[in-house]
Amino acid sequence: MFRLAASKVLLQSALERSQEWHSQRGNEYHQAMFPIDSEKEMTFDAIDLEELKSDKRNGIYFIFDNIRNIGYVGMASSMTFSQRFYNGKKDCKDNCPSNCGCFGHINSTPDTCRSSRVITPDAEYRVYCLAEMDAATAEVMQSEVDWYYILLEAEIEMTNAVWALGRAGYTGRPIVSCHIESATYQHFLTISEAALTLLPNHSGGAGAIGPMVSGLQNQLNGYTHRYATKDELELYQGHREITELIGRFPQVSEWHDNQGNPIEDRVRNMNSKMAWISGPLNESDLEHLKSTARGSYDTSIKSKYKRVYWQRRYKGWKWSAYKREFKADGVKRRERVSDNHPTDRAAAIDRELWVIKNKLTDINISNFDWDLPPD
Ligand SMILES: [Zn+2]
Repeated sequence: MFRLAASKVLLQSALERSQEWHSQRGNEYHQAMFPIDSEKEMTFDAIDLEELKSDKRNGIYFIFDNIRNIGYVGMASSMTFSQRFYNGKKDCKDNCPSNCGCFGHINSTPDTCRSSRVITPDAEYRVYCLAEMDAATAEVMQSEVDWYYILLEAEIEMTNAVWALGRAGYTGRPIVSCHIESATYQHFLTISEAALTLLPNHSGGAGAIGPMVSGLQNQLNGYTHRYATKDELELYQGHREITELIGRFPQVSEWHDNQGNPIEDRVRNMNSKMAWISGPLNESDLEHLKSTARGSYDTSIKSKYKRVYWQRRYKGWKWSAYKREFKADGVKRRERVSDNHPTDRAAAIDRELWVIKNKLTDINISNFDWDLPPD
């Protein structure tokens, strides 16, 4: 049981601090909505964690470790208590990659969410419902801020990040967005906030960004996104433009083939998947994203060399040449296509060398009369 002795003094200072929080942000404050109207002692029973798994309520919840006297307050409005605590995979802590999208307070306990300081493996935390609300009332996020200051005034060490209070849909997994063309970066507390700002005309809304933060898609509409790391969160607070700040964090990205195997930069193609983990993207990541963006390539690029082609989907040049293939009914010509080359000349030289080496000059045409230039 959690007992809250709400004295007149406590309520008055909580109210003032909440008003101050709102006025600093230019938000309207509705005093009539302050959750406790008069001095009283209140008690709350802990919710059984098994029952919490199917708890359909909306409202204010409180995660509290009585022994350490530390707590975290939150509001579930767009989702139910059950979703807020158990979103994601049941075995998230054991089996998910670090950048998974699960955000349930209990089953996932993302370390980007301050609730992770209360929900530790051996801690004696309990979960309480402080106020049940219908989803529409809960949309007004003032209550979360009011309760935060009430609990703080009750001398509980509150772990919430003050900057994250009052954000509908804040799940402790803010995101970093990169505008690929300009290599500029922005920070958003929620995926919904990013979608509203960056993709205002996109019908998919937050759902359009999800595939990128979970690594299923590399880019959309000129942007790529990932979850912010725990270290980044504190520095980015209060900032949306973070191009100047992001360079302070290590640059970590990995590329995988469509089977999920790690691959090196030079064998990337348009099916390769990027896992962007921390810091800014490097030049070669950005170049690859630009070259594989839909509609960004120029199909008019042609080489003066024969059998050398500009790869539309990959910024590079390939060559093709015939090779002999022995079949039961005789010799057939089959085409061989090269890997990518940075210039058409490099591709043409590589082609010429390959044809000479494989003794196929009789069935192929030449760009250099089988006599390569010295360079
Ligand atoms: Zn997970």
